[in-house]
Amino acid sequence: MSNLSYVSSHTDSPWQTYLSQVDRVLPYLGHLAHWGETLKRPKRTLIVDVPIEMDDGTVRHFEGYRVQHNLSRGPGKGGVRFHPDVTLEEVMALSAWMTVKCAGVGLPYGGAKGGIRVDPKTLSRKELERMTRRYTSEIGIIIGPQRDIPAPDVNTNGQIMAWMMDTYSMNTGSTATGVVTGKPIHLGGSLGRVKATGRGVFVTGREAAKRIGLNLQGAKVAVQGLGNVGSAAVELFVAAGAKLVAVQDHTGTLANPNGFDFNEAMAVVKREGGIGGYKNAEKIDGEAFWDVDCDILIPAALEGQITTARANRIKAKLILEGANGPTLPEADDVLKDRNILVVPDVICNAGGVTVSYFEWVQDFSSFFWTEDEINVRLDKIMVDALNHIWDTADRHKITLRTATFAVACERILIAREERGLYP
Ligand code: NAD
Repeated sequence: MSNLSYVSSHTDSPWQTYLSQVDRVLPYLGHLAHWGETLKRPKRTLIVDVPIEMDDGTVRHFEGYRVQHNLSRGPGKGGVRFHPDVTLEEVMALSAWMTVKCAGVGLPYGGAKGGIRVDPKTLSRKELERMTRRYTSEIGIIIGPQRDIPAPDVNTNGQIMAWMMDTYSMNTGSTATGVVTGKPIHLGGSLGRVKATGRGVFVTGREAAKRIGLNLQGAKVAVQGLGNVGSAAVELFVAAGAKLVAVQDHTGTLANPNGFDFNEAMAVVKREGGIGGYKNAEKIDGEAFWDVDCDILIPAALEGQITTARANRIKAKLILEGANGPTLPEADDVLKDRNILVVPDVICNAGGVTVSYFEWVQDFSSFFWTEDEINVRLDKIMVDALNHIWDTADRHKITLRTATFAVACERILIAREERGLYP
């Protein structure tokens, strides 16, 4: 339970999920557990009012957030989410997972996250631009290339990052490409960034599959969310010989045991904004998604999806957490008991922030790498990080999630200890 006055007591909130994940790792941190409370409170939370003029001349106010959870190992890093369900607590949890993720793969960053409570589909392009720019201006007091570097997340993309970079640059008086990552290529973006998170999901999935003797050739894959992360991951699994057998997104749930035509499915998603209109699969009830016969399940949409009840029904041998926080802590226990391997979000979806790091480095040096260089370096960082985490899990006989937290929290708290408390 949190002792922060601004946190609710909902036991299934993402922040509470994060706190119980921290509690699970403290016994493995030795004397560093002394600094454990550092992990349980965000360093800085900013709530901003974002008023904009709508196209019809009225004024609307949106609530925006930027949370810097921990900056012991470097500047804050983390995406910006536009979604009607965004809350401060959710952003806090997402920022904390960024702290763990960056430390887990060894990137020189702390963790941060931002968001606006809005359904961007209800805004015109001009309204979206005004909202993005005003939000960037409001959080401008705490972001910057050396301070905190936003990136895309749910419902944000390269165009949003371009507006954020431009607004920050206008306010500071010089072009600062390094203030955000996930930018369009000609504005200092990196090759390979758009598909990096999905590629990381595939790389960790490929390695995990090898370890449990699961052949990707013919493996059945079910995915929740065919957005940026889900589509890039599934594309690589299909290229490796796997079969996409079920998709759930905000427009519907479809299954086809013989496999979807991936290109056709993506054409429908691009054209209609979701999978709902795809013809060559059977529409099934949303809840039935969790009963689908599959080998690999990729939650790649929102958090809190794998509850205890669903964990008891899942047929997959391997779960790859493309999304952040898709599994509740009690459900984790069920999956462990059922011998279903979970590659947790904090390593599984770290490919995005890894290539964001490459983008940031390239922006500083103004020297850009080829896509092959990016993908080879990404592969190596992910495989090395996963191997180290796996060794830690084997040594302590703990899950990959607790092992990732153990590796990451040790790095974070050593930095905390070495820097010392100010003043
Ligand atoms: P996106 O906006 O591109 O896609 C989101 C997907 O989720 C869409 O397919 C949408 O239809 C689906 N969805 C939304 N509401 C749903 C619901 N109620 N039920 C089922 N599906 C629903 O977002 P994204 O960038 O692919 O991010 C997906 C997840 O991955 C998020 O948890 C995000 O935090 C995480 N993530 C993203 C990145 C990145 O680089 N984009 C990096 C790390 C983690």
